Amino acid sequence: METLLVSNIVRYAIHDGDGLRTTVFLKGCTLHCPWCANPETISAYNQYWFDSEKCVGNQGGCPFHENCSRDAAVGLAGKRTGCFDSCPMGAVSQVAKDYTPEELFAEIIKDRLYWGNDGGVTFSGGEPVLQIVPLLPLMKMLKDALVNIAFETAGNVPASDFEQMLKCADFVYLDIKNIVPEKAGKLNGLDVKLYETNLSNLSGSGVPFCLRLPLIRPYTLCSENIDRICQLVKTLNHPDVEIFACHALGDIKRKWLGLEKTTVMDITDTDLKMVEGLLKEAGAKVRTLSKG
Ligand code: SF4
Ligand code: SF4
Repeated sequence: METLLVSNIVRYAIHDGDGLRTTVFLKGCTLHCPWCANPETISAYNQYWFDSEKCVGNQGGCPFHENCSRDAAVGLAGKRTGCFDSCPMGAVSQVAKDYTPEELFAEIIKDRLYWGNDGGVTFSGGEPVLQIVPLLPLMKMLKDALVNIAFETAGNVPASDFEQMLKCADFVYLDIKNIVPEKAGKLNGLDVKLYETNLSNLSGSGVPFCLRLPLIRPYTLCSENIDRICQLVKTLNHPDVEIFACHALGDIKRKWLGLEKTTVMDITDTDLKMVEGLLKEAGAKVRTLSKG
């Protein structure tokens, strides 16, 4: 049976749909956004975190120091197994854990008491649609248990998979990043045509949705992209759009994964107000989240 590879389960989430929610982060993404705040979710395989500040190494008398290497963080060297599961300092740990749909159902349903009437579960990532084979049976179990289900997607997924997911969902967050056709592919691999097909299917499905726009200069916050997003908004029926300034939370995670640091330039309140105004003029109902 296929399992779900989960990097994190966040309980009491307040920004991932109606009410209090349990947000499940699934590994694997078709995009590679340079600003990604959850870089551990991009690879579809399990990885290791390596926190060099916790490692005491040779000087600290660690019995595994000869096997220790930054390679542990990216899981490249099978021979360096000493640190992987035995680190006495907690400097090395696995990024994700496998669950069968039944195991994940049991983990999620524990939270039912605090969801109240409005809350539920949100699948995020990464790109949850990539794990559709084990995810659909889980969503069906949740639906049978009358759990409210939302999922967040970047929309860069096969249209047939997306449509199947929609059948089990009560709400969808569709990310909107850089959708300038000549730029997007090079920037993060987005197929804009596919994205627009999925958006069109979503908008015709009757499933309520919200477009999520992270502002990152110069990737998503540039006049060419904001113009294009406004044009798209005008083709929809007053869509909900959530905007927020992208934070640099991914930096420490990049370090622990052995990846290069990326630069995220500051977004000001003036930027947020400017984009909010343009989207409202285009007909969107805009919610601006405070800077994170
Ligand atoms: S086991 Fe832990 S403390 Fe020891 S060398 Fe490896 S990472 Fe460092
Ligand atoms: S789509 Fe989301 S998870 Fe995937 S790389 Fe971009 S920001 Fe990261």
